[in-house]
Amino acid sequence: MSRIAVEESKKIQWSGELVSIQPRTRVWRYLLDNRTHYHLGFTLFFLSEEGNSFSVAISEKQQMKYEFSIGDVIQGSAWTKLYPEREFADYYRAGALKILKKSEKVMDTQCPWTGSVPEMAVYEERGARMLSKSLWKGTCFRCYYATMSNVEIQWDFDRDIKKYRFESFCYGPKSCKYYKPGPARSVPYKDRGPALDIGWLDDLCTQSRDWEE
Ligand code: SF4
Repeated sequence: MSRIAVEESKKIQWSGELVSIQPRTRVWRYLLDNRTHYHLGFTLFFLSEEGNSFSVAISEKQQMKYEFSIGDVIQGSAWTKLYPEREFADYYRAGALKILKKSEKVMDTQCPWTGSVPEMAVYEERGARMLSKSLWKGTCFRCYYATMSNVEIQWDFDRDIKKYRFESFCYGPKSCKYYKPGPARSVPYKDRGPALDIGWLDDLCTQSRDWEE
């Protein structure tokens, strides 16, 4: 049983300039015994003509078909989210996608990972480390290795009650000079003091790659 707010979903039309593409991910946490990352597709972050920021969830298949890149002007339809506590992107079930103008810009960014985004299998294989939220919002925002995950915390196994929040992670090289994990993250469980994720789960999740990979 999960106690969550459900909102009515409405279909909308949207358009805007793409400012970032990141993997769309979900993380299941259970104390410090388990942190499992699921790779669902991509989140496109936009700036509208009126200067409003919004984000749209798309599938891996849609990204591979249209090969969206930062600077493209895109339009489409989508639905407002049903579960605001659980879903980070603003809009879902995107369709009628169309590139109105292909990007001609040279990217003005500190981050070198802003070109063609990898396939989901690459993220799956690389694994993620915790990333400081302020870096996610700033230097790392355009990096395709950054993500803001929908996190489910298993708070009570017996009654299957979960808590929800959003957490930032990085799939990039361990040697990236911008990387900082941010503070330890508390993982609460019913009738217990919170366990603190101080980073050793990062080592486990990324054990298949070396410092430079
Ligand atoms: S720290 Fe991670 S997300 Fe940020 S620029 Fe480096 S590789 Fe990208």
